[in-house]
Amino acid sequence: MKYIFITGGVVSSLGKGLTAGSLGALLECRRLKVCMQKFDPYLNIDPGTMNPLQHGEVYVLDDGTETDLDLGHYERFTSSILSKKNTFTSGQIYASVLQKERNGDYLGKTVQVIPHITNEIKERIYAAGEDADVMITEIGGTTGDIEGLPFLEALRQIALERDHENVLFVHVTLIPFLKAAGELKTKPTQQSVAKLREIGIQPDIIICRTEIPISDDMRQKISLFCNVPVKSVIEELDLKVSIYELPLLLHFEKLDDIVCEKLHIQAQSCEIQPWENIVEKIKFPKNECTIGLVAKYLDVKDAYKSVYEAIAHSSIYNNCKVNIEVIDAEELEQMDDVDEFFKDIGGILIPGGFGNRGVEGKILAAEFAREHHIPYLGICLGMQIAAIEFARHVLGYTDANSTEMVPATTHPVIHMMLTQRNIQKKGGTMRLGSYPCKLVPRTKAHKIYQEMIYVNERHRHRYEFNNDYRKEFEANGMVFSGLNPDFDLVEIFELENHPWFIGVQFHPEFQSRPQRTHPLFANFVAAVLQRRDKQ
Ligand code: GLN
Repeated sequence: MKYIFITGGVVSSLGKGLTAGSLGALLECRRLKVCMQKFDPYLNIDPGTMNPLQHGEVYVLDDGTETDLDLGHYERFTSSILSKKNTFTSGQIYASVLQKERNGDYLGKTVQVIPHITNEIKERIYAAGEDADVMITEIGGTTGDIEGLPFLEALRQIALERDHENVLFVHVTLIPFLKAAGELKTKPTQQSVAKLREIGIQPDIIICRTEIPISDDMRQKISLFCNVPVKSVIEELDLKVSIYELPLLLHFEKLDDIVCEKLHIQAQSCEIQPWENIVEKIKFPKNECTIGLVAKYLDVKDAYKSVYEAIAHSSIYNNCKVNIEVIDAEELEQMDDVDEFFKDIGGILIPGGFGNRGVEGKILAAEFAREHHIPYLGICLGMQIAAIEFARHVLGYTDANSTEMVPATTHPVIHMMLTQRNIQKKGGTMRLGSYPCKLVPRTKAHKIYQEMIYVNERHRHRYEFNNDYRKEFEANGMVFSGLNPDFDLVEIFELENHPWFIGVQFHPEFQSRPQRTHPLFANFVAAVLQRRDKQ
């Protein structure tokens, strides 16, 4: 087993997760079996209770683990299906040590960061990638953070235990461009490497994030000051068109060759063609369309990361540039002329969400899509919104709502799941992870999923469609096309007399991949294009 550890220097948001995922992709192109893992040094047990504005989207794994959005990158860039073994926070590590202390597992001993916390970290690294050739572990945060120290110490110990030739340290760092001086600066990188060396880690490869190309002189300088060979100073330029260019860019810099050489891996040559094909499609689209994303987090793409990526995948699939116009749900509530607002929008997508803010604006958007025959994809909250809209404007229940928004509504078309009603704690208690959905023959959904009978999709919600209203909805043109076979929960519905209006209680975006666009997203964009061609 070979271990690659990825650390970050100078600033956060360097795209370490993307770099780790792209390295994983390159090693898979060389037919190696890769396992990806992430440690986050914060004290929350998981990001499930954090605000998406601070942390970005909460990515959900098949087994229901709520995790950092980098795990989404790992699943999109590599073929791995991740589980709770692939993601840990300091909170989990400390909780486990404290639990053991209370159980008496360390009787007589003083419990300390070294060795007790570091042992827990090492155990989790050793346990994760049992059948992989290469394990890639990313440490969240930035070198120099106090809370990151136990992780770095654990990595240093692993290099000692597993022999240095099986362990590789990759440091991703920023080379800032100072406008006033008109030059790139290497000093912050030197200092962050010095921090690593202080703890006993000498990086083997330095990946330099930079706005403009770094010169040979600069590579020499980084090599000299950071004590790495020149060829191991890798340039990672800002990506212009798409994140899916990154494997190509790193391959061009020979990253996979250097990694294989340093780890003494005899790997096959790199079959990079699939990534080239993807980038080719992105760079030369044959079509263009615009989708309105009706949302409450406006400037933070990370809050809807996987939705953005799934749309990017449908661009690849349909060979079409898909522009995303973010529509402020609250602003929509104030609009007199909604028509004007949606003038250039070819399709409407309402993503998942929680709480009251912007809900009425989203209902307006769903109404507009239904009445004007605009393709509509409602995801989780977006599906619930479509149900409320239908109950209000088709069935005439003007006060219809979800009990999440108005607990005492007289027409609770969306209500809390039975299994959720007695739950008090907020962390990790929603309906989470992959559940089967049985598709109803001869429906749009059935066709979109290529006439499969069962599909599995990932969930993250507390509320559901209220089955008391099912008959009435059906009698008025709503088709329930996907149901959970064990509990008869509504998973998918679609409008009968509408070209493409689909609501799903799950999150299809979590299973979309650049080479395997999720069928709902692929088909949604195809419907947008079809409608435009007809006009
Ligand atoms: N707030 C809704 C629920 O809990 C929808 C959740 C979501 O969109 N992920 O059911």
